[in-house]
Amino acid sequence: MSKKNSSLFCPKCGKTSGNFIQGFCQDCFLEDHDLISIESRLPVEYCTRCLRLKFRGRWVTQTETVLQDLVKGHLKIKQIVEPEIFIELNPLGSGETQTRITVSGILNEEKIRIEKAILLIPKKDHCNACNKMASGYFESILQVRWKEREKGEKIQKKMEDFIKDYLDRESEKDPMSFIAKKSITEYGLDYFLGSKQAARKLSRVLVETFQGELVTSFKLHTQIKNEVKKRLTYCVRI
Ligand SMILES: [Zn+2]
Ligand SMILES: [Zn+2]
Repeated sequence: MSKKNSSLFCPKCGKTSGNFIQGFCQDCFLEDHDLISIESRLPVEYCTRCLRLKFRGRWVTQTETVLQDLVKGHLKIKQIVEPEIFIELNPLGSGETQTRITVSGILNEEKIRIEKAILLIPKKDHCNACNKMASGYFESILQVRWKEREKGEKIQKKMEDFIKDYLDRESEKDPMSFIAKKSITEYGLDYFLGSKQAARKLSRVLVETFQGELVTSFKLHTQIKNEVKKRLTYCVRI
């Protein structure tokens, strides 16, 4: 113990210099106080079919930001003023993600920086949309009918690609925008879609893009078990 720093003496490890917090050196203080706490193995529910993550009760597309927010949501920080959180994700081959959390801020007027390593553990699940898709569920039918068969056959492939791209993009916002079934006839295309909103929007976009007209939309009442379901049909003539 140095005489010069006699006021600084860690009763636990004997250290006499560096940052001191409430009479202990920073290392010893942090050993006894969990200023940041979080599960060391944090389960992350994901859908095995579409790979979306369950985040705040919703199924969302997996991104680094979503994973970081998920970790932040489980993190509890005590006593640190103006904490800044930095999260580094390192996906492992096993599917787990090694995660390093760094919290820096002010504690007792001293700058402090604490690191913690945890593992994100994937937990297999199925999202509602994928469950419905697997059961053949659909809410609406989108019909495309050719005004002239020859012209229709020419643009058929282009149209199928367009519809697929549109629904892929739409499913980022609305997971129910899936194709439950598709049938191709000589008169045109029939799409059975999981979402009624998607069918309505798509029919309008098709009319605009391919200079078609919305011929009719009608309701089809289907009895499923004891429930009468309304299914909307949109018919676009191209
Ligand atoms: Zn100490
Ligand atoms: Zn899914």
